[in-house]
Amino acid sequence: MDYDVAVIGAGPAGAAAARNAALKGLSVVMIEKQAVPRMKPCAGLVSQKALQELDFDLPEELTAQKIKGVKMVDREFNEFTEKTSRIIGRTVKRSEFDAYLTLKAREAGAELKDSTQLLSFREEGQKIVLDTSQGQITARFLIGADGVYSRTAKISGIRKKWRRWDLGFTLYMDLPLEGPVEGIDPEVAELHCVSYPFSLGWLFHHENYLNIGIGTSKLVDKKSIAVFHTWLDRLCRQKNLSLKEYKTQGYYLPAGGFKRTITSGRVYLAGDAAGFVDSFSGEGIYFALKSGRFIAEEIALGLKENGIEQIGSRYTKRCYQDFLKEFRLSLAVAIFLGKKVIPFQFVRHNPFLVRYIANIMENTGGYEIMLKEIGLKFPKILSSFARGKYGPQKS
Ligand SMILES: Cc1cc2nc3c(=O)[nH]c(=O)nc-3n(C[C@H](O)[C@H](O)[C@H](O)COP(=O)(O)OP(=O)(O)OC[C@H]3O[C@@H](n4cnc5c(N)ncnc54)[C@H](O)[C@@H]3O)c2cc1C
Repeated sequence: MDYDVAVIGAGPAGAAAARNAALKGLSVVMIEKQAVPRMKPCAGLVSQKALQELDFDLPEELTAQKIKGVKMVDREFNEFTEKTSRIIGRTVKRSEFDAYLTLKAREAGAELKDSTQLLSFREEGQKIVLDTSQGQITARFLIGADGVYSRTAKISGIRKKWRRWDLGFTLYMDLPLEGPVEGIDPEVAELHCVSYPFSLGWLFHHENYLNIGIGTSKLVDKKSIAVFHTWLDRLCRQKNLSLKEYKTQGYYLPAGGFKRTITSGRVYLAGDAAGFVDSFSGEGIYFALKSGRFIAEEIALGLKENGIEQIGSRYTKRCYQDFLKEFRLSLAVAIFLGKKVIPFQFVRHNPFLVRYIANIMENTGGYEIMLKEIGLKFPKILSSFARGKYGPQKS
């Protein structure tokens, strides 16, 4: 079969690229190696800004919890909470969320070939010939939305492998709940100080389980399982949660903040394959959806204006203009928080800082605004820090 666009991967990046390209009138095929709905290791927190990126509403039944606030928790389990009256995100089951995105791509006219793996591809004249586990497909353009281990990136030569500092490492488990837990507000996403370099813990409430994990860097991933289990034990004791066994899953994700090559000829990377993840929060769904839309729009524009050669450079420019500054700042925050004790002390004495995390999720502020305002308030922050004006608060 011959298509305008072949998209590898039916995650958020692939589904967004496929839907937007199909809406522009292009013939599109999505190639997904797993059967849809497919499992994706994730904490499942979709920020409000990611939901705003969709051109349709997410059905209510796909929401496990509406998230209205953020809590930062230091090593001594002192808590600093910013709760709003607004929804700043939703927890979802990734298998269901991604399957719905795929459905919307199909409704727009994209074809889905699931249980079909991309094996290799080559350029032949104006066409790209793809060898898949289910036979050959040809397309004019290829979008690699095939995640952190992108085969498209490897075959095209865009990236043979990640450098160690390019990758984050996550460990998490789903802890079943029998009912409400005292001290855990289902509407509040918790971020925890973990005693390990470059690490941050999280606790997100889903319908009948908690997703608890840590994100760290591949630079220090060796001891992270022991670190995770120690922290999990302390957390469960603190919250009176019964932990019967560790069912830990580990997974890599890219760290944003570096400018990387993301195209080669008529091959373009989007989402995790391109390295678009916020290094501090680990948020990737928003950037996957957005980069998927950007590349679809750039292909359509390139075809309309007879400017196929400029698609790659225009797409790269658009992504990095939109994401790079915030990614760099989030990387800086991740490194700073990696030294954990001081910044969490900082939050302890200046609990208003938690508001900025909620703002980032809502898109009403970003790291730049956060750091600017911290800069402006720095003298006051320092003096209150020195005077111990804001003592620890238990919420
Ligand atoms: C533990 C963990 C927790 C996270 N929590 C959050 C969170 O709470 N919120 C958030 O916003 N982000 C979170 N992220 C990041 C987020 O999951 C990713 O950024 C997002 O899934 C990227 O979407 P994508 O479409 O680029 O890639 P993916 O969702 O990884 O999709 C890639 C798809 O490509 C398919 N594929 C791969 N190779 C081939 C091939 N050769 N042929 C065909 N198909 C192929 C895969 O099967 C997969 O379906 C988390 C990540 C991890 C690891």
